[in-house]
Amino acid sequence: MTQTAPGAGGSGPPPDVLLDVAGLEVWYGPEQAGGVRAVRDATFTVHKGEVVGIAGESGSGKSTLAFAIARLLRGNGHITGGSVRWFGASAGAPADGLDLVTASDETLRKIRWRGVSIVLQSAMSAMNPVLSVRNQIDDVLRAHEPGLSRRQRTSRIASLLEMVGIPARRSTAYPHELSGGMRQRAMIAMALALSPQLVILDEPTTALDVVMQRQILERLTELQDDLGFAVVFITHDLSLLLEVSDETLVMYAGTVVEKARARELYESPRHPYSIGLLRSFPKVAGERQELLGIPGSPPNLRELPSGCAFHPRCPQAMPRCEREVPQLTWRTPAGEGAAREVACLLYGDGGGPQAGQRSAATGAVGRVSGEGNAVRS
Ligand code: ATP
Ligand code: SF4
Ligand code: MG
Repeated sequence: MTQTAPGAGGSGPPPDVLLDVAGLEVWYGPEQAGGVRAVRDATFTVHKGEVVGIAGESGSGKSTLAFAIARLLRGNGHITGGSVRWFGASAGAPADGLDLVTASDETLRKIRWRGVSIVLQSAMSAMNPVLSVRNQIDDVLRAHEPGLSRRQRTSRIASLLEMVGIPARRSTAYPHELSGGMRQRAMIAMALALSPQLVILDEPTTALDVVMQRQILERLTELQDDLGFAVVFITHDLSLLLEVSDETLVMYAGTVVEKARARELYESPRHPYSIGLLRSFPKVAGERQELLGIPGSPPNLRELPSGCAFHPRCPQAMPRCEREVPQLTWRTPAGEGAAREVACLLYGDGGGPQAGQRSAATGAVGRVSGEGNAVRS
């Protein structure tokens, strides 16, 4: 992820930018008392072929952000500010990107599946229970690739299922006839049906056991390396996220509190919430460390605490944290390692962390190896 705003200087975005989210804000219900501001000022960039991971506890706004990007918000959810600029080829996007927030439904229809596809949190509820897996993928192909013959579609479906490890003979199964792992694989096959440039995976493996989770993630990583699509990967498990991501965002109470390369975040998380989150999940391998968790629970978004929303739970809170809202403005000074951004009052005044604020969550780091805990760099 670059720290230069796409389009800065009037020369258009860097050529490898695929999606640029700026200042995105989402509410459920009215934009006032009684409503929920579920996403606040979300700003990040996805580059072509990059895996951007989003972590945060339940209710931090991860799914809302994913749905907002694809403009698939449910119920009374609505975007109230910001932009989601798409630079993918399928849109025929203008030089400064096509804003998905204001794009017409017809334009969005063309971008979904082929440009951006999404794998939802629960495959069981996301799939149509009365259609076989084959017919569900066929529906997508018929709607978006009307020129394909029946034979071509059948062949495409078989190869898509094979790609995710589902034998062709299981293609006639209905969702309830498949195991949780197979359903999730079928969802991934469907998401890849039109070779999208960006796949959003919202907790794709949360409901699965650890072995199945690992198998699916390994397959996904292989597919992503082979096919070159970019990924937005969402999970509450920061350790897992660090294994599959290039860039990571940590969300708390609807806003991004830290942005960093996966390795940097793993080796030295800066935001106290990132540190707590990282110490809340066991590492599969590497140094043993005590699981500490984070005291308390996430705030009710209808009644956010004053100042820094994390202050009631923060072990490093200062008096000013109850009054001042930290912005995602602190950046690693030039020449001091990979760029990162942190929204915390411990950082910012002097352009760097105060003494003693180095991570308490450092640990042994391996390279992606297919076993144990490892971090993409
Ligand atoms: P999880 O890890 O549990 O999936 P999440 O980080 O994906 O959580 P969201 O589902 O995006 O969180 O929810 C963010 C906030 O928006 C939560 O406080 C949630 O209660 C609220 N919210 C979500 N959907 C609605 C809705 N339809 N109406 C009102 N509030 C909602
Ligand atoms: Fe903790 Fe204050 Fe930083 Fe918030 S701003 S994370 S309360 S130190
Ligand atoms: Mg969610």
